[in-house]
Amino acid sequence: MSKSLNECIFPMFPTIQALDVNALEAGEHKFWFAVATDAVGHPQTLPLRVFKGHRPGKRIMITAGIHGDEQNGILTAQQIARDLVGQEIAGCVTIVPAVNLSGIARHSRDFHSAAPDSSSTNLNRVFPGNPQGDDASRFANSLWENLLKPNADLAIDLHSQTSGSAYPLYAFADYRLEDAIRMARLINPDVILDDPGDPGILETVYNRSGIPSITIEVGIGRYTDIEMISRAASGVMNILKAYELLQGEVEPTAKCVEGKEIISVRANQGGFVICHVELMDRVEENQKLATQYNSFGDEVEVYYAPVDATVISHNVESVRAPGSLVVRLIK
Ligand SMILES: [Zn+2]
Repeated sequence: MSKSLNECIFPMFPTIQALDVNALEAGEHKFWFAVATDAVGHPQTLPLRVFKGHRPGKRIMITAGIHGDEQNGILTAQQIARDLVGQEIAGCVTIVPAVNLSGIARHSRDFHSAAPDSSSTNLNRVFPGNPQGDDASRFANSLWENLLKPNADLAIDLHSQTSGSAYPLYAFADYRLEDAIRMARLINPDVILDDPGDPGILETVYNRSGIPSITIEVGIGRYTDIEMISRAASGVMNILKAYELLQGEVEPTAKCVEGKEIISVRANQGGFVICHVELMDRVEENQKLATQYNSFGDEVEVYYAPVDATVISHNVESVRAPGSLVVRLIK
């Protein structure tokens, strides 16, 4: 049987410009969230899923894809949504799995502006946005004011390392906030960074608005990592159980590396870098981390650990511009 034209083009869900989960009836909902218009005046619509329980409870907001090349975060958000289908929930889980449409479509970290006088923008540095700003600021502001802020008691923002580099399962948490530490540990990540945050980052804006939140880095940039996705999704389910949105036993939290200081070893010149360390390796001061070659293949530079620390990121694409990340350590 042939499908109707509407079904063939686009799944037909209600399009909304603002969400109030308190006023929504219990059940599973899919919407298109019209966050902004594009340069020809068409709506930019984000997929939005809401799982609202019959019983009261916390409202948790999950976002992914704010950086468009961080597909493991997007896949984690989608996995969480699939895992929630048919589950009995207390409270509400809202999932926005693909935030930065223009970046995702280009496999690019940035928000891509169509304004002739604008450059591409790191969307995770412009929150809470500005309704009078450029298109990236307006996009962030509409998302923040009409969707994220009004519907979250707690929030989780899913990322991965950027293209060309790898992370383990890595959580950022502001240790001044008990709920942030608790959520980060419940993920059972490899690493947690005690991070007070920076202006413009969604996690920081949530925290400063009284909504405890964490950022989770789900492994490598761009390329699919099924094991990391599965670990991150289970970690989020563990948070939902611990905060009693879902029933079930909370997995005990294992000890992980928790640090306060990040040391980024960056390329001193352009060239091809081969790393000699793996994620989560303990390295000692002056241990060899990576070797760099010029385009003839001659060795031009060796990079060493400046301190005793643990490896939490290294490049997986060898081409490194001057200043590009080679290895990142946590202490
Ligand atoms: Zn990111």
